[in-house]
Amino acid sequence: MSESMRGPERIVVVGAGECGTRAAMALRERGFTGAITLLGREDVIAYERPPLSKAAPAADDAELVHPWTAEALAEAGVALRLGVDVTGMDREARTVETTDGPVPYDRLLLATGAGPRRLGLDHVHYLRTHSDAATLRDLVSRGGRLLVIGAGFIGPEIAAGARERGMEVVVVEAAERAPARMVPPVVAEQVVALHAAHGVEVRTGTTVTAVERHEGGLLASLSTGESLDVDTVVAGVGAAPHTEIAAAAGLLVEDGIVVDEQLRTSDPRVWAAGDCAAFPDARSGHRVRVESRRSAHDRAVTVAASMTGGQEPHVAVPRFWSDQYDQMLQTAGLPTTAVDEVVRRREDGSLIHFGLDGDGRLVAATSLGRGPVVAKDIRVAEQLIATHATPDPAALADPGVALRSLR
Ligand SMILES: Cc1cc2nc3c(=O)[nH]c(=O)nc-3n(C[C@H](O)[C@H](O)[C@H](O)COP(=O)(O)OP(=O)(O)OC[C@H]3O[C@@H](n4cnc5c(N)ncnc54)[C@H](O)[C@@H]3O)c2cc1C
Repeated sequence: MSESMRGPERIVVVGAGECGTRAAMALRERGFTGAITLLGREDVIAYERPPLSKAAPAADDAELVHPWTAEALAEAGVALRLGVDVTGMDREARTVETTDGPVPYDRLLLATGAGPRRLGLDHVHYLRTHSDAATLRDLVSRGGRLLVIGAGFIGPEIAAGARERGMEVVVVEAAERAPARMVPPVVAEQVVALHAAHGVEVRTGTTVTAVERHEGGLLASLSTGESLDVDTVVAGVGAAPHTEIAAAAGLLVEDGIVVDEQLRTSDPRVWAAGDCAAFPDARSGHRVRVESRRSAHDRAVTVAASMTGGQEPHVAVPRFWSDQYDQMLQTAGLPTTAVDEVVRRREDGSLIHFGLDGDGRLVAATSLGRGPVVAKDIRVAEQLIATHATPDPAALADPGVALRSLR
């Protein structure tokens, strides 16, 4: 850590989610002794969002999981201010404008996360916060028919939870196959089959054009010309990064706040990390924005190092998981950066999909199946990706070859 960063400099973190909070703690772990102020719009200390779409729709009482206590933050000397909205920043004056007045900084971290993409339809619910989850839980407990718009990650999780609570569930997805984007088609087909086996109807290539009140319920009009009588509509159609403050202050913004490998923005006093930031992927060179809890934690540690004069590039392999019914979907790496694919089919009928780049390096692995098997394989695949392994495709496809022997 450079001498100038030993204090009494002031670091302000905007966004008190898991990334911002982890970064505040990591700054202390790295020996930063100046003031740390953590500003958050929500009314509660950071909590894990993944359970909101998994246990929550199915659980009667969903307790929030908080990775840190208020006491731990206070002990670390992190001034947590909740219910404070940051409305802008003045880079010349080095202050952020908040609903509580201006807050000065010497170095600033934007960890503003992302929010649900909205569809411009009435009567549609979205899921991002604990209060969204409470609303959804209440609606699911009333039963009836649920329309889920979007078959990415969150939509199918909500569908599975609601189905397990006895709701009738229809999922519509605009893309011709589901789930979209990050899941290879062969795995996506398995996800759809899993939902079909649980009595969920998945309609791909279909959009919802209107939702209106109708006879005590809702009437959803589909692009196919059909209408569906439903009780609740929820959409999970992706997340949009919170970049408004950065953009208004003239920082470089694309799909996310643009940062370098040290997570610095175009202003040398401002950093960005977590769901809001787009960083260069060390393996592919592509600029990516990863929405994953583990990546948010990894990058919080990287950004704390960078803000205190460290030079550790962010190289952790992105990881993502999803639970649906009794199955687990896990991904390591970035499937979108692959140009070749290899599929390994296990004896139990489940599979693991490998993505390779143009040089034969493993860059991604995705699997749906029983939790322990999937977790073990993806853990080994993560190591292969991290070490830039170029495994023999025939060995990758062969379930008789132990993945760890390909290191
Ligand atoms: C329902 C759901 C399920 C998920 N499931 C998984 C999963 O299974 N696996 C996985 O890896 N990831 C999952 N994720 C994604 C994961 O939760 C996110 O990647 C992670 O929360 C990102 O952390 P973050 O701190 O960057 O952003 P966030 O958690 O969004 O936190 C950012 C915080 O900043 C606050 N903020 C924003 N703007 C301002 C402002 N102007 N002023 C003050 N405060 C502001 C926001 O209110 C928010 O509290 C899921 C997300 C959701 C919503």
